[in-house]
Amino acid sequence: NKQVIFKDYVPGILQESDMYITNSTIKLKVPSDTKAVLVKNLYLSCDPYMRIRMRSLQGSYFAPFNPGSPITGRGVAKVVDSSHPDFKKGDLVYGMTGWEEYSLIAATESLFKIHDKDVPLSYYLGILGMPGLTAYAGFYEICSPKKGEYVFVSAASGAVGQLVGQFAKLLGCYVVGSAGSKDKVDLLKNKFGFDDAFNYKEEPDLNAALRRYFPEGIDIYFENVGGKMLDAVLLNMRVHGRISVCGMISQYNLEQPEGVHNLMLLVMKRIRMEGFMVADYTHLYSKYLEMVLPLIKEEKIVYVEDTAQGIESGPSALIGLFAGRNIGKQVVAVASE
Ligand code: NDP
Repeated sequence: NKQVIFKDYVPGILQESDMYITNSTIKLKVPSDTKAVLVKNLYLSCDPYMRIRMRSLQGSYFAPFNPGSPITGRGVAKVVDSSHPDFKKGDLVYGMTGWEEYSLIAATESLFKIHDKDVPLSYYLGILGMPGLTAYAGFYEICSPKKGEYVFVSAASGAVGQLVGQFAKLLGCYVVGSAGSKDKVDLLKNKFGFDDAFNYKEEPDLNAALRRYFPEGIDIYFENVGGKMLDAVLLNMRVHGRISVCGMISQYNLEQPEGVHNLMLLVMKRIRMEGFMVADYTHLYSKYLEMVLPLIKEEKIVYVEDTAQGIESGPSALIGLFAGRNIGKQVVAVASE
């Protein structure tokens, strides 16, 4: 059973050498005195919050990983053996699993059966999983969006951002995204239907860039990156604008977070800036599926994934999120059904 082990807490930049692969034997049988499920992992998800679990932060929302143990994260898997009445051999499931070929899962409350199988299974880590619900709750619940409003999305080609932009377009908003390469900018404009997009790495003055793309200002900012981008956005927000703070990935590899200088503008422009955690919105999941499944099937929404092959590629795929190597939702394909 190949496993990706988390070595030790990392205060600064995360590197591949902070994880290593081991190989051991495992009995493909669930101990009979438990109510556990043994799964074969098919796809593993790379998510930015996993970096936060690699810090020894006291009081953090995310429990730190255990050094010397396999990384845990979301995955899609097939049940190999089960002593739990709700799961049987052959079931396809998604939920919290380990970065390993086979996982013995005792915490079955975070494991869910896959019923709709005529979509790619890896979608349960993206558009039909946590990032999808994040985009849905973060946009519709936090932004109070209205048709015709000016919407800006950062990290716009990623797992969450590509959906926020498409939801905003479906509502009739004017949508601009930022991303870190020409290929991603092309994707935003040509595949996801954003009205415009720019490569923030090629803009020496982010304030000037945003003024160019939003001459009348921004009504809604979907915040994925933080740092300098947030400061530039604050200068370009309209009165009564809303900022949905989903994440600040530019800060996750820093030992000390950067300061934000323009927060006083929240007062002058009467801006509502609100953070949220997707875990508080699980009650909306079935409503979200009702909306999004038909949109996928009618091809009114598209979803781009970046698939790394083999469990050994997990560490480099995870690190790639912080260098912007992923184009779309980053998953790791571990095995086929
Ligand atoms: P993505 O698929 O968007 O991958 C991360 C992307 O972030 C990279 O591809 C890169 O794109 C961009 N990025 C990396 N480093 C920087 C940097 N220093 N400055 C600017 N951009 C950077 O990830 P997700 O869609 O999964 O996550 C997006 C955000 O949403 C994250 O902040 C994450 O923490 C947050 N999140 C929050 C949740 C919640 O409950 N609040 C739930 C899920 C996600 P590029 O090439 O464009 O730079």
